[in-house]
Amino acid sequence: MARVYNFSAGPAVLPEEVLREAADEMLDYQGSGQSVMEMSHRSKVYDKIIKEAEADLRELMNIPDNYKVLFLQGGASQFFAEVPMNLMKNKKAGYIITGQWAKKAYQEGKIYGEAVELASSADKTFSYIPDCSDLPITDDMDYVYICENNTIYGTEYKELPNTKGKILVSDISSNFLSKPVDVTKYGVVYGGVQKNVGPAGCVIAIIREDLITDDVLPGTPTMLKWKTQADADSLYNTPPCYTIYICGKVFKWLKKNGGLKAMQERNIEKAKVLYDFLDESKLFKGTVVKECRSLMNVPFVTGNEELDAKFIKEATEAGFVNLKGHRTVGGMRASIYNAMPKEGVEKLVAFMKEFEAKNA
Ligand SMILES: *Cc1c(COP(=O)(O)O)cnc(C)c1O
Repeated sequence: MARVYNFSAGPAVLPEEVLREAADEMLDYQGSGQSVMEMSHRSKVYDKIIKEAEADLRELMNIPDNYKVLFLQGGASQFFAEVPMNLMKNKKAGYIITGQWAKKAYQEGKIYGEAVELASSADKTFSYIPDCSDLPITDDMDYVYICENNTIYGTEYKELPNTKGKILVSDISSNFLSKPVDVTKYGVVYGGVQKNVGPAGCVIAIIREDLITDDVLPGTPTMLKWKTQADADSLYNTPPCYTIYICGKVFKWLKKNGGLKAMQERNIEKAKVLYDFLDESKLFKGTVVKECRSLMNVPFVTGNEELDAKFIKEATEAGFVNLKGHRTVGGMRASIYNAMPKEGVEKLVAFMKEFEAKNA
């Protein structure tokens, strides 16, 4: 069996240990005689899976009791609409535009009310995080929205914005569980799990209880009202059962490996291997302002499209796959999530050095 080094932005690499365990349990989950794919979401055995997943996540992220954890469907993209539907009481909110995902959320917000652009880094192709210390936030805004790690452009907030007392809503799809977080700083923090947590199909939303109410925008579908999901402990209808089961295994893997502090240390070390090389390379260069570099997604270019294509082709042949940059930006991007071993990044850098020597 030949496993590649998978630098995909999402769906992305998962811990091999988790995949092996799931394989072992595929035909008979812990003596139930069934695969988790085949069992009722209302069964005792599945109830234990989802409850344990939530408990482990609460422990990992130190989630306070006054926050609900919801396992939802529709992807992060559907959540872009759920935010205004559930929170836009005054029909006005502020958005910080740091890339394509923030922009999409902002455009979705505009469907439901007045979405105001508070700051943007579009002027320099989203290569930095704007200064968020004194934003034009007004009293009538229902929330301030950010995308905390910009998967496509490779920037990450190192400090949360000053929201002037307004609720902070944050999309952490691509840096979910990559480092410790202080949940109390957010009203809503959420992410699609298919980047750094599990397989596609589930969004995990951590929402302060007082923000979960019946007071939603008229026309909000039952399924998209957070109260529906919260009242039913994410079992209003059939949840993405198998995805939640795998996420639960990843949570246990994270706990076993020292939790989020240890993960952060590993991620810093791992990213340093690649960024240090990009800083010294004569051929490859990073595309992002140093202080704003993401620990998870690392875009880089040679400055020559043909050479980029040649690099991607040869890297793929050598077992380093999914290095092509996002279709809207070109170049390369290495996504180095929790499950990417440091060895994978070291080998990639060795390969880049070799390529540079041959193509200089
Ligand atoms: C991938 C991604 C999304 C979109 O996720 P879907 O689940 O495909 O809708 C949104 N935000 C961020 C930060 C992402 O990386």
